[in-house]
Amino acid sequence: MLVNATNMLKAAEAGHYGIGAFNTNNLEWADAILTAAEETQSPVIIQCTSGAAKWQISYKVVADIVKQLIEDKNITVPVALHLDHGTYEDCFKCIEAGFSSVMYDGSHEETFDINMKKTEEVVKAAHAKGISVEAEVGGIGGVEDGVAGMGELADPKQCKAIADLGVDFLACGIGNIHGLYPDNWQGLSFDTLAAIKAEVGDLPLVLHGGTGIPVEQVAKAIENGVSKINVNTDLQVAFAKATRAYIESGADQEGKGYDPRKLLKPGRDAIVARTKELICQFGSDGKGWA
Ligand SMILES: [Zn+2]
Repeated sequence: MLVNATNMLKAAEAGHYGIGAFNTNNLEWADAILTAAEETQSPVIIQCTSGAAKWQISYKVVADIVKQLIEDKNITVPVALHLDHGTYEDCFKCIEAGFSSVMYDGSHEETFDINMKKTEEVVKAAHAKGISVEAEVGGIGGVEDGVAGMGELADPKQCKAIADLGVDFLACGIGNIHGLYPDNWQGLSFDTLAAIKAEVGDLPLVLHGGTGIPVEQVAKAIENGVSKINVNTDLQVAFAKATRAYIESGADQEGKGYDPRKLLKPGRDAIVARTKELICQFGSDGKGWA
């Protein structure tokens, strides 16, 4: 069932568990994520960057793939289809294309006021259609689709100001980084998380750059008000590792091992297995009330 992400994240915030937001790249990816969610009876967020949407031709193709998979695979758990790190224009394209949730990332706008103003407009347009909205305060370190930022700690007062615009969940830097973490990474700032939570109350918070944060730090973040955990690199690494093992074993050169379905299957299966593992780690397994 395609739903917006508001209620599932509110329930996660209240229940102190996290919901994984897994990035999709193609049909196999979306299918694998949905399979993992259904098998663990977990609500799930499938998200897509503008780059991954371009790869799949358009946001409409992405939306149609996910919606049709939900129907034809008889998926019973709540599924939200979310735009990850959208520009202002991307948000409107996704609202039109049939996404149930969007992220407007105004953290790279020239001023915080511009971020506020555009977030407010996205909220108005999205809510008119029952679509949930994620906003971002400050930058998240690392690189996401070419957008770079230094590791930042969000300003709790800015978080409160943007929360008051009626956003449904909020991304805020607490020392997290996109991509793989450097060896000298300082860890998450739980003081910053507590200060933000004190300002925004029960608004669900989003942890970007979920790949490579130690399990116990993710668990502590969830316990303290993080409800959506973004996972992208982790599944890419799992897919690449399984695909490499298939090729290196020489299986693609035996019989019809070159068949693309055989080539992609180990990677697809690896995504299912890893997604299930993460769902259980975040504690959303069995929470797929429909
Ligand atoms: Zn992100």
